[in-house]
Amino acid sequence: MSKLIFAGNWKMNMGPAAARDFLKVFLQRYKKESGVEVWIFPPASSIEAVAREVRDRPEIVVGAQHVYWEESGAFTGETSIPIIVDAGARAALVGHSERRHIFGETVEDTGRRARALLDAGLTPVFCVGEKLEQREAGHTEAVVVAQLGGLDGLNASQLSKIVFAYEPVWAIGTGKNATPADAAQVHAAIHNWMAGRGVARRDVTVLYGGSVKPENVVSLISEPTIDGVLVGGASLEAAGWAEIVAARPN
Ligand code: PEP
Repeated sequence: MSKLIFAGNWKMNMGPAAARDFLKVFLQRYKKESGVEVWIFPPASSIEAVAREVRDRPEIVVGAQHVYWEESGAFTGETSIPIIVDAGARAALVGHSERRHIFGETVEDTGRRARALLDAGLTPVFCVGEKLEQREAGHTEAVVVAQLGGLDGLNASQLSKIVFAYEPVWAIGTGKNATPADAAQVHAAIHNWMAGRGVARRDVTVLYGGSVKPENVVSLISEPTIDGVLVGGASLEAAGWAEIVAARPN
């Protein structure tokens, strides 16, 4: 692993004013360190406010939670990649479990989004993860591999630019996190899938997400296959987020 990534997904929280207040507190507590990046995924209407607040901090990446793959046109309610780039985004989440399971995002949709982001030079943060009943039936790896199928057709160079996030659905917002060993098993499956497409381990980045908090972040990032964390609820409070970002592997 070449870097450690702490990514915060604010979901449908924090308008521009709240985002600015958050960053004032966070930036006072945050110390830049080589090899560590902080990524923030605000709602679309707050991307520009966040990008402005961090304009002198290139190690802080601002991203969108969702994009549409067409550049412009009659797609009411959608946000295109050129629009989020104009607002200051450098990345976007793709296939978050809430998009897949609440809004019906399909495997094909995730592929179109990831391809369009790569074509525009942005980083897709490609989320995968199984539901509890799928884990209990022993289907975790098969579910994750099927979700990765959205990326079929991309070459090794394109695949190596994607950041993956393994987020078991049963761990998101529930207070139950996967153990480092549970995560390691799925991260290894993602490494194998990438190896089968010609991507070396050193070019694969896989974050873990699901009820990460200040109390469990060190044990998770100490697992060698976990290259960082994607955090929802615990990224919404500036002091707690600064504590998570200050964590280092044992
Ligand atoms: C998420 O939204 O990606 C997430 C992992 O949420 P939480 O940390 O609240 O479980």
